[in-house]
Amino acid sequence: MQRPKSHAAFERATQSLVGGVNSPVRAYRAVEKDPVFVASAKGGHITDVDDNEYVDYVCSYGPGILGHAPEPVLAAIREAIERGTTYGAPTEIEVNLADAVIAAFESIEKVRFVSSGTEALMTAIRLARGATGRNGIIKCKGCYHGHSDALLVAAGSGATTLGVPNSPGVTSGAVADTHLVPYNDLAAVEAACTSDVSAVLVEPVAGNMGVILPQPGYLEGLRQICDRTGALLIFDEVITGFRLAYGGAQTVYGVRPDITTLGKIIGGGMPVGALGGPAAIMDHLSPVGSVYQAGTLSGNPIAMAAGLATLSELRGDGFYETLEQKSATLADGLRQAAATAGLAETTCFNRIGSMMCGFFRPGPVINHDDTLECNTDAFAAYFGVMLDGGMWLAPSQFEAMFVSAAHTAEDLDRTISVAADAFAAAAKLM
Ligand code: PLP
Repeated sequence: MQRPKSHAAFERATQSLVGGVNSPVRAYRAVEKDPVFVASAKGGHITDVDDNEYVDYVCSYGPGILGHAPEPVLAAIREAIERGTTYGAPTEIEVNLADAVIAAFESIEKVRFVSSGTEALMTAIRLARGATGRNGIIKCKGCYHGHSDALLVAAGSGATTLGVPNSPGVTSGAVADTHLVPYNDLAAVEAACTSDVSAVLVEPVAGNMGVILPQPGYLEGLRQICDRTGALLIFDEVITGFRLAYGGAQTVYGVRPDITTLGKIIGGGMPVGALGGPAAIMDHLSPVGSVYQAGTLSGNPIAMAAGLATLSELRGDGFYETLEQKSATLADGLRQAAATAGLAETTCFNRIGSMMCGFFRPGPVINHDDTLECNTDAFAAYFGVMLDGGMWLAPSQFEAMFVSAAHTAEDLDRTISVAADAFAAAAKLM
């Protein structure tokens, strides 16, 4: 597959954009390639500027559950845009989307819309601190909650150590109250959850270190620790909300958080984040309470329209059942292809619903340290063959693969067949 125009576009981009990209995950550095520049996308497919077509399993890192440019969402955007793009004043459509979120999540009585997942999480921890009068937060190593200072924390040396910043520009003071624990380790949370901890923050299914499922009892255990200590339980459902089920991971696992953060799917491909919870907690936010938060484009009417139209599609008959069938077909086919390449024992597939990840290391993979033992050279070889075979994956071993409603049976078959060659290339490096 040739990409001369992509290479030229990247050359040009590096002159004006830092590293040629606007988000580091797009840079393809981990797979030692230049990023591929996109011209358009429709349904389950992406077309690059050289007119190569790919089956897209990145889905814009999660929002694209309906596939690209779904007609009902485009229609809602067109209709909304004619009435103006932003007013800096309340609109009924914000209330409509809030009502839809409240109907979807039993744990949510009130919502605040923001413009990104990062903003939602940043606000959620400020709210938890303001509502409890405590400073500490507990965060799992390997979970990503956006790039606000307090949450941009690298691994500590032990289960309950205080965090150290993992980016220059983040002061040690900004993360001094962030306690790191391994994912799926209740004893570590127990030890870290002192009377100064305002919140235990977790991705109920981790989607930023590949895909890691909560072990049986883990989320329930977090709920119990929070109940006992008075810390608030925050589920970051920016990825899982509306993806694993209409009511998110909390519906699937039957555990009720105090605060839920949302993003990605809820914006239907437009920039939206949200946080929600019981009124008694949410009403600490201004203008009712004194925890300050604001945003010029919060509740943007175009984004609200796209979100509402998306949610309406997700409520269609059998939506999640069909998505599950497609995802199971793909995962089974990929597992089989890996086994045929002799990788049955040396790879591990984690999947729940339409999010999955194949790790180039033996299973089980249940926390961040496990993922660090992956063979990233083997992943890069696999990625290269997939890309040239027309399969659009995230350029990192540590990202999820997403299935959308727009993927066809033919897309899945073709993916499994290209994967057979990709696993064979990877096997040489295992
Ligand atoms: N939380 C989770 C679980 C995420 O996966 C992400 C982004 O990938 C964020 C928060 C941050 O969202 P955004 O990129 O919209 O700021």
